[in-house]
Amino acid sequence: MFNLGEKEKKNSFPVKFCDIIQKNVKLSSFTSFKIGGNADIYIRPSSQDELVAALMFIHAERIPAILLGGGSNLLIPDEGIRGAVIHTCRLNKILLEESAGHLFVQAEAGALVQDLTEFCAEHGLTGLEDFAGLPGTVGGAVFMNARCYEKSISDVLFSVSALYFSEKGCTLQEYNCRKEDWGYKQSPFQPSNKRYASLDGNRPVIVSATFGVEQGDAILIRNIMESRITDRTSKGHFKLPSAGSVFKNNHAFGKPSGQLIDEAGLRGLRIGDAQVAPWHGNFIVNTGSATARDVVELIEAVQRQVKDKTGFELEPEIIFAG
Ligand SMILES: Cc1cc2nc3c(=O)[nH]c(=O)nc-3n(C[C@H](O)[C@H](O)[C@H](O)COP(=O)(O)OP(=O)(O)OC[C@H]3O[C@@H](n4cnc5c(N)ncnc54)[C@H](O)[C@@H]3O)c2cc1C
Repeated sequence: MFNLGEKEKKNSFPVKFCDIIQKNVKLSSFTSFKIGGNADIYIRPSSQDELVAALMFIHAERIPAILLGGGSNLLIPDEGIRGAVIHTCRLNKILLEESAGHLFVQAEAGALVQDLTEFCAEHGLTGLEDFAGLPGTVGGAVFMNARCYEKSISDVLFSVSALYFSEKGCTLQEYNCRKEDWGYKQSPFQPSNKRYASLDGNRPVIVSATFGVEQGDAILIRNIMESRITDRTSKGHFKLPSAGSVFKNNHAFGKPSGQLIDEAGLRGLRIGDAQVAPWHGNFIVNTGSATARDVVELIEAVQRQVKDKTGFELEPEIIFAG
């Protein structure tokens, strides 16, 4: 257990900041896998100032930390997080803006993508409807460059406000989207050390994202959103806890990773309570009390068997925190 002890220094932080820190918090309920141990320190800022204070705190005290959005692409270890978790869930405002005759929707990082698409539908705005039903937050979707129905978040993104922090302090920088910075499930906010959840180094924290939208046909927008959600439901996305597709697709394989797993006969393969979904080769589901260890062992077993049968190396899409 990471002991705050002297480091807590409650009195040296603004009262509101003390209110947003909790100790020894169970993390499994914040993840779509419903897996993971406790965080020694759990911080849930409700404003940008509080987020900055939290980042400065963990930086100054050299507390190892991870950043948590909707937890829909994360595997948190059974032993939990020795250090801090900063959870963006309370930074969730969504605004409509107009500038030089163009419409934009600005969403804070912790806003659910589901609420963003609903906001657009209510205002008859087109551009984001393909993302209806995508679990997680705006910050997570931008960080991962989430992709749904042949559309990537970068296709609709206009700009991002992100905090960069260092010994000298936190600076808010505005990033204007340039297509060449983005790739399949790749964003310019991912650290080169590939420790995607970790807040070490000069890794930016997305505060808000602005999307370019247009006035559209409200009924058509609703119909597309409903068809996306129906399609996901019919493919069993929400049947059991999971983190969505476990492995990235790769053009070099000539077919989706899920198909390689199916053809290797691995649907239904089980370790403990973790199982390759019998209805979707690229999903691993928690059938009850799966541990992170079960999931990791199952991922390794699938990688090994697909490699033996096809020669291809499956690359995990889900992020291992801690
Ligand atoms: C049923 C199901 C279906 C899914 N379908 C799809 C799909 O169709 N397409 C797809 O692309 N994904 C899919 N996913 C995966 C997941 O929903 C996306 O990757 C999602 O965008 C992750 O967002 P999150 O907020 O949950 O991120 P988290 O899981 O909380 O975090 C993911 C990463 O983003 C980082 N992060 C989160 N917030 C911020 C921030 N504010 N600033 C910087 N970094 C941040 C975290 O540190 C972590 O490294 C699916 C998942 C599930 C469970």
